[in-house]
Amino acid sequence: MRGFDCACGEYIQAENDEKLFQQMRSHADQEHKDQFSDAQLQSMRNQSAYDVREEGGDQPLI
Ligand SMILES: [Zn+2]
Repeated sequence: MRGFDCACGEYIQAENDEKLFQQMRSHADQEHKDQFSDAQLQSMRNQSAYDVREEGGDQPLI
């Protein structure tokens, strides 16, 4: 899982970077209307997203 902490304090999590970006896009559209372009969000994700270990979730990768 990948996690991202928005500047507003919202925690966003998704299973990979691509989905994380989609979550960030949808959060930004709701909470930060017209503040962030796709390129800005991608850049924020690339700089600030981090790996999240799921608690107790030992899911097989295959
Ligand atoms: Zn936010």
